[in-house]
Amino acid sequence: MSEKFDLIVIGGGPGGYVAAIRGAQKGLNVALIEADRVGGTCLNRGCIPTKAMIHASSLYREMQEGDRFGLHAEHVSYDYDKICEYKQETVDTLVGGVEQLLKGNKVTLIEGRGTLIPPQGGINAVAVEEETYLADNIILASGSRPAELPIEGADLPHVLNSDGLFALDHAPDSLVIIGGGVIGVEFATVFANLGSQVTILEALPKILDNFDKEISQNLKMILKKRGVDIHTSALVKKFAETETGMVMAEYEEKGKESAAVGDYILVAAGRRPVIEGLFAEGVQPEMNGRYVKVDENYLTSIPGVYAIGDLIGGIQLAHAASAHGIRAVEAICGDSASQNVDVVPAGVYTDPEIAIVGMTEARAKEQGIDVITGKFIMSANGKSLITKEERGFIKVVAEAGTEKILGAQMVCARATDMIGEFTTAIVNDLTVSDMLRSIMSHPTYSEGIGEALEDVHGMSLHTAPRPSRR
Ligand code: NAD
Repeated sequence: MSEKFDLIVIGGGPGGYVAAIRGAQKGLNVALIEADRVGGTCLNRGCIPTKAMIHASSLYREMQEGDRFGLHAEHVSYDYDKICEYKQETVDTLVGGVEQLLKGNKVTLIEGRGTLIPPQGGINAVAVEEETYLADNIILASGSRPAELPIEGADLPHVLNSDGLFALDHAPDSLVIIGGGVIGVEFATVFANLGSQVTILEALPKILDNFDKEISQNLKMILKKRGVDIHTSALVKKFAETETGMVMAEYEEKGKESAAVGDYILVAAGRRPVIEGLFAEGVQPEMNGRYVKVDENYLTSIPGVYAIGDLIGGIQLAHAASAHGIRAVEAICGDSASQNVDVVPAGVYTDPEIAIVGMTEARAKEQGIDVITGKFIMSANGKSLITKEERGFIKVVAEAGTEKILGAQMVCARATDMIGEFTTAIVNDLTVSDMLRSIMSHPTYSEGIGEALEDVHGMSLHTAPRPSRR
């Protein structure tokens, strides 16, 4: 007889493993099906290894700039194998931690690929190879994989996706990155820090195209200063090998044909949901294009079957997937929603960091919302001057009249940590004055938040006097 659970989760990434643990915490008998190591793309091939590489490579760059602090370091060098070892150790520690948590919460870990099959005796069913498992509820959390470019030469050995680039045993001397999205600019940061000659080719008019114009422009300037060659409105059409064993990306930039050459090409042109093998014939839920269609509780068109994370499209972020998983489990248990899943902060781990949440001034204008804004330039922030990270700004957007916080955009050190203050403000309907009630400790980067809020009233203490920008 097939084993039966209260909940089966397919996919052990940050969406799936969080749903499994939360389900177990709520008293459900849970199974998690995973073909690879738990942790998914985020822990094994995405967020964690990239951030480790960014950390190591930024330290390397900073060590060479030690003179700014009166520090002399000669013959600064790096050992790429050791950087990769440190990255892998970090990944292994976190994956091991998740494995322990699953075990501690008595989640049954089933190794293999799960396929949703027709219900058996009215109960939802999943096949893993020859075995069948039953569950009242199933959460699909199979995630996404890098998108392939449907162009000539995409299968050349030196044309890699982010997984392939991580597998290299050396930092390339030169790298051409296709796509100036989040993955593109984060990898550009790593390899420019390590001294590689990096070129970014982006089809849209700006890098990080879905971010505020000001953020894209700021980042473009910073990356260019670090030697990154950036081409926007540059649509890549073909890859080819050169006679010297290098690879070439042919692109059209504003009507002109051109080519960029490198030791390797990284394709960072988005991600696609993993649905291959997920549904047996006749049990595919209703789709929304290539994504699984869900309601506000992440329930698909099949009763008792939920889908979360990259599988459903929209915001492809680890913490969004985790929040979906928590919401789905709450719905399964008949509990009300504990989180506001509509307000999702996003961070880009460039140097300085970028973080956003909620609405931009431009988006508010498009939607006919009257807003007031405040902005603080971090070159007047003490902590930023101490650490010589004075580039960047903090901007806050509030509703005119009520002064309710609607959004914030940051380019500065620790932006990805600090954005949480604005997320808390938005989900709790806080106003500019509510936020200003707290004193910021000194000297901190967070003082920039207080100054940006004060600037809404033209009262930023460390900004030269100017008329209120209503
Ligand atoms: P993306 O969609 O952010 O960017 C891909 C870019 O490639 C786009 O700007 C697109 O215009 C460009 N592009 C596509 N085809 C092209 C062509 N032929 N020529 C030139 N340019 C082309 O995707 P991504 O950067 O691959 O990231 C995938 C997902 O992973 C995103 O949703 C991202 O948010 C997420 N992610 C998040 C983080 C983070 O939060 N720090 C880090 C990495 C990835």
